[in-house]
Amino acid sequence: PTGIRQFILEVPNVSWNDIGGNEELKLEIQQAVIWPQRHPEAFERFGIDPPAGILLYGPPGCSKTLIARALANEAKMNFLAVKGPELFSKWVGDSEKAIRDLFARARQVAPTIVFFDEIDAVGSSRGSEKSSGVSDRVLAQLLTELDGLEKSSRVILLAATNRPDQLDSALLRPGRLDRAIYVGLPCEATRKAILEMRTRKMKIDEESIIQKLVEKTSGYSGAELVAVCRTAAMFAMRENIEASVVQWKHFEEALSAVVSRTEAYLLEVY
Ligand code: ATP
Repeated sequence: PTGIRQFILEVPNVSWNDIGGNEELKLEIQQAVIWPQRHPEAFERFGIDPPAGILLYGPPGCSKTLIARALANEAKMNFLAVKGPELFSKWVGDSEKAIRDLFARARQVAPTIVFFDEIDAVGSSRGSEKSSGVSDRVLAQLLTELDGLEKSSRVILLAATNRPDQLDSALLRPGRLDRAIYVGLPCEATRKAILEMRTRKMKIDEESIIQKLVEKTSGYSGAELVAVCRTAAMFAMRENIEASVVQWKHFEEALSAVVSRTEAYLLEVY
C-alpha cells in the first residue's frame, strides 16, 4: 500500500531530562507504557491486559507532546505521529484508509508508539455539530483498529487533546483509551525546573531571579514560560546587542509582554 509511506517514522531526540519537573506524571506514564513492554510476564501473572491506549488531556503548551516523544525515546519504541485535523486535510476522501495504513505501519515496525495529537478532531461526539459523515466513519475505523490491537502487537496509542469534553465516549471504553492522564499547568517545582533549564545559557542573577519568576508565573504553561525567557533575552539584546547579562528588569518586561492565557482557557473549557 502506498499510503503507508506517508507516515514518517521518527526517532525522537527528546529525553526525560528535557522535560522540566512533572516527576509524578512521568512515573505514571512510564509505568503505563514501559512496564507492559519490559515486564509482560507480570501482566500475565495477574491476568490483566496492558492498556491499548492512553489519553493525555489538558491545556495547550503543558508538555503532552514532549512527554510522548521522550517516552518513545526512553522505551526505545518507534514513534509515529499524526494530528487529527491532518487526516482530513492531507488525505481528503481517504481518511479511513489513512487510519488503516497508520496502524498497519505501526505493527510493521513494532514496538511502536502511535502519537495521535488533537484526537478530538476525529473522536468528537457522533451526531454533534462538529461531527460529519466523514468523521463518523473515520472514528469507526479508529475504534476498529484499537479493538484489533492484540496484546502481543506491541503497539500503543497515545492520544492527546485539549478538549476531552468533545471526545466520543466510545473512545474511552475499556480496552480502548483505557487510561486518561491529566497533564495540567506546571506546579511551582515544575516551573522552577523549566525556568532553570531555559536560562542555563543566560547569565542572570540566578537564585533570586528564578525564585521571583516562579512566584510571578502561577498559571503560565510550560510553553509560556519558555516564551518569557526568550522574550527577556530579546529585551536584553534590544537594549544592547552585545549584552551578556539578562537582568531582572528584562524579565519584568517579558512578563508584561507574555500574558498567560492558559488559566483563562482552563476556566472556559474545564
Ligand atoms: P498542545 O496541546 O498545544 O499540543 P502540548 O501540551 O503538547 O501542547 P508541548 O508541545 O509538549 O505541549 O509543549 C510546548 C512547548 O512548551 C515545548 O516544546 C517546550 O518548549 C515547552 N514546555 C512545556 N512543558 C515543558 C516542560 N515541562 N519542560 C520543558 N519544556 C516544556
